[in-house]
Amino acid sequence: MAHLICEVVYRGIFQKNLASRITRGIVLSARKAGRWGIAFGRYGDSPQRNGIPAKDFAIVADSKEELEQHMARYEPKELHVTICVDDTLGKGVESWAWYGLQPINRLLLPDGHLLVTSTQSPDDLLKDIHTKDSPYHLWILPGKASFGGLWVYKEDHTEVRILGALAKIAPQFLSIDAVSEAIREAEWGSDLKVDSARKAYERIESRPVRITEGNPETPYAFELPRWWEMREGVTIPSLPIGKPIEGTKGYRPERSTVFKKFSTRTMRPVIDFDTCVKCTLCWLQCPDSCFDVMPDGLYDANMESCCGCGVCEAVCPVHNCITMVNEAAFEDNASQWEMWRRDKDAYKVWLTEKIQDKVHVARSHGFRYRGQYEEELASGSDLGGRPVTEGIPGENAEEKGLPSTVHVHESASIVTGIPEAPGA
Ligand code: SF4
Ligand code: SF4
Repeated sequence: MAHLICEVVYRGIFQKNLASRITRGIVLSARKAGRWGIAFGRYGDSPQRNGIPAKDFAIVADSKEELEQHMARYEPKELHVTICVDDTLGKGVESWAWYGLQPINRLLLPDGHLLVTSTQSPDDLLKDIHTKDSPYHLWILPGKASFGGLWVYKEDHTEVRILGALAKIAPQFLSIDAVSEAIREAEWGSDLKVDSARKAYERIESRPVRITEGNPETPYAFELPRWWEMREGVTIPSLPIGKPIEGTKGYRPERSTVFKKFSTRTMRPVIDFDTCVKCTLCWLQCPDSCFDVMPDGLYDANMESCCGCGVCEAVCPVHNCITMVNEAAFEDNASQWEMWRRDKDAYKVWLTEKIQDKVHVARSHGFRYRGQYEEELASGSDLGGRPVTEGIPGENAEEKGLPSTVHVHESASIVTGIPEAPGA
């Protein structure tokens, strides 16, 4: 009797189809080898919201009875493999279904496997991933955070590359031949995809992680009220009014004490306080009331409540005053304004480095400029892949390709590829 339990940790909405295709692929591959399996999402992650961390699970077992035994749980509490499809989630998972910040490796069994799609090195990733009281293996599948399967389907082969990697990690459950067979026979039906899975199988490498390695911080957590502490009836208290800071010169609004949004971000705003004209637009427009009013009238985005939506960057009228930067470029949630106040020259150096780092500035979802989607499609799938426009066999293949004339047309519409009128 043997079983394999995997979770896929992903960004809600953006990666929900990707995650469900991975867990479904795990089960289909296991069935090819005569095993039983089930794929399901976590109840507490529904409804999903843009970017909020969520989980899908796949359980594979030698027999139907053993599978049923493992299904008789709300959700798995111990895992053989965690698959993380957005490396900014290496900082931890804070979803609707979890209270506080759950380290990405928390549920891994000793000697378990953490597989991350990332362009970062293992050492860079380990700056974010919390230490664990047992050793485990870190696997990196080279590639950016994919949103394959979103409304415009982006064929970057991430799901099959992960299946190929998993065949290397757990060969006793998913042989590469079974994975290949499942990919070929499933709706994907593509030799191109089988090639991608096999490449990942051959190239994926791991690194052992010792218990001393990783981010040593204590993850944010809080005590849930006991049943006898709960008030009678249904009361939804409003948030109390905020407090002045530094005498009465500044102001910090009161915020949720339980949902800190440390891990909902894939990007965070970086602010150039020297060019800010104090127009208040960021403060007014931030949907999460993130901005503290500082004693000098500047606005500091508080990283305990920022979800990384980018609205502040969009409304700021000053060029490059607010720039969204990939979350992977940061190691803490400290106040930028305090850093700026301490040493303005050092802050300028820090800010320049953050916003010029092209690897990190690339958004993991969403687009920075019109035409970026066409450029991404034309440049092909992530490392080691082929251009998507080579053609994709299978259902709806024609709709998934792009007309060759619109790959990098700067003013092309994202959805249709049809050049737009000036000023559109
Ligand atoms: S990205 Fe900007 S607008 Fe969005 S939550 Fe953070 S501070 Fe607020
Ligand atoms: S929107 Fe930009 S310029 Fe206006 S207060 Fe905020 S940071 Fe300053």
